[in-house]
Amino acid sequence: MIDKAKSKPRKSIPSHEQLMEEVKRQTGQLSAIHTVTTAVSQTLDLNVTLQTALEAVLSVIPVDASGISMVDEAAGELVLRAQRGWKNDFVSEPMRIKLGQGLSGQAVTNDEVVITGDLTNEPRLFVPAIREEQVKAMVLAPMHARGKVVGVLSVMSYKPYIFDETEIAVMRAIADQVGVALDNARLYESVREQQSRLQAVLQSTADAIIATDNYGNINLINHAAETLFQLDLQAVVGRSWHDIPLPPSFNKKFQEALDSEGMNSGLTFDVPLENGHCLAAVVSPVSFQAGLNEQESEGWVAVFQDITHMKEAERARLQFIQTAAHDLRNPLAVTLSALTMLNKQIHDPTPTQQEVIDIALNGINRMQDLIDDLMDIEHIDSGVDLRSEPVSLPDLLERCAVDMRPIFERREQSFLLLVDQNLPIFFGDERWLYRALINLLSNAHKYTQREGTITLRAEWRASEIVIQVEDDGPGIPLEAQARLFERFYRVRHTEEKVQGTGLGLAIVKSVVEKHEGRVFVNSEPGRGSIFGMILPRRDTVFIYESES
Ligand code: ADP
Repeated sequence: MIDKAKSKPRKSIPSHEQLMEEVKRQTGQLSAIHTVTTAVSQTLDLNVTLQTALEAVLSVIPVDASGISMVDEAAGELVLRAQRGWKNDFVSEPMRIKLGQGLSGQAVTNDEVVITGDLTNEPRLFVPAIREEQVKAMVLAPMHARGKVVGVLSVMSYKPYIFDETEIAVMRAIADQVGVALDNARLYESVREQQSRLQAVLQSTADAIIATDNYGNINLINHAAETLFQLDLQAVVGRSWHDIPLPPSFNKKFQEALDSEGMNSGLTFDVPLENGHCLAAVVSPVSFQAGLNEQESEGWVAVFQDITHMKEAERARLQFIQTAAHDLRNPLAVTLSALTMLNKQIHDPTPTQQEVIDIALNGINRMQDLIDDLMDIEHIDSGVDLRSEPVSLPDLLERCAVDMRPIFERREQSFLLLVDQNLPIFFGDERWLYRALINLLSNAHKYTQREGTITLRAEWRASEIVIQVEDDGPGIPLEAQARLFERFYRVRHTEEKVQGTGLGLAIVKSVVEKHEGRVFVNSEPGRGSIFGMILPRRDTVFIYESES
């Protein structure tokens, strides 16, 4: 009978010396991996990391040369970035291998360690020049970072060499450590590159930029700001903006902005300088994504632009229009008084005479309205002389109601005034706000039939002020609604019946937008219209500097 137990190869029990040898070897490997990890994690400089890694790997695996290739995803290539101990230079003109081709390309695509002996007869070789190296043994291990292969670490021997399993395992571990270190260095480098690009843009822009932290300490100031405010970069960075000589008008507005609750979206205002120049300042909060849905505030950034020329051009244009309007008004006034006199002197005019006089009087009145409206829209559009003063909206609306009531009564129209008395004080230009509201109320009066109903309503809605004029007039077809606020646009069917310049709603829009608000219309033919404005809560600051 065959003794099966005896026929089995017996596993020899390792001797004490062998065990000690094994422990020593494994300790050596661990310390080798540790050496490489420590070496490569000491720096974030990509080139230093590459060289350190190559040197470290050769110190733990007894071969002649090492190399690191990195994946260039955009080109779909593997590029040799560093070499050590090689006979030929393959880095100055970097050796490039298509992913999936050659030995290293295969290591990347298959995500596997590639081991080879004599390269002279290696059919998988992609770059024939490598044969000149006369490599007799080689291992290529993929390097990983952030869950993907980022490159290949290779070691080569010019003498025949058999890599044992443990060496391969060490190679794998080292490759991953190097991969992470290189990836970090690469990320750091791209962040640094981006930062210096940003810095260059910041420094070369013509606009002056000053940034502060949440406590108002200056942490950035560009070249244009240094020149504009005659500041010394070294002397101001780290100091509170209170302590540096910025224009007083800016300081006042900026402080108001910081104190206000409404300052979470930034604001724009003019900064008149003592030398007669004018700057437009845009102050915005700086925040960064702290979590998935979380924004954390970092401070403020103020951008200043010299708008002196724009202001001057605007003034000149306005002046021209005012002069032209004045020159037009004079002969019109003379013609009007001549016609009125004629009208009075003709005691018993024939129907034709009366009709001619009425047409002429009407024409002159329309022309005067047109000139007034044109002047108004130019004036408000220019933003010149726009005031920033506290406005009690309930009082303003009451004043509009008092002025319009007799007009509504002429056509027996009912008028309702519904105002939330708790509306906050609004900072703006009362004269222009009055003008906009009167335009809306006049339209409601003009286009609504006798005995119709007109409502003026003002309320708080989601921390915005909504003021609207509602009527039960003819309404407006949908296709016309989009164009209502354009200059000179009139809905065709109303043109013959009701006189107008087509500028009333354009003036409303301009006034509202100068107060950072928006206009709206809601209308249905046969059911009436709602025209309104939504004003932001601006209870401490206003966008434009008063120039009066
Ligand atoms: P104007 O009233 O001088 O024509 P507007 O700019 O004020 O100019 O209005 C533009 C057009 O919008 C008007 O011609 C009219 O057709 C239409 N419109 C304005 N308000 C109303 C309203 N309440 N109801 C109906 N149509 C209106």
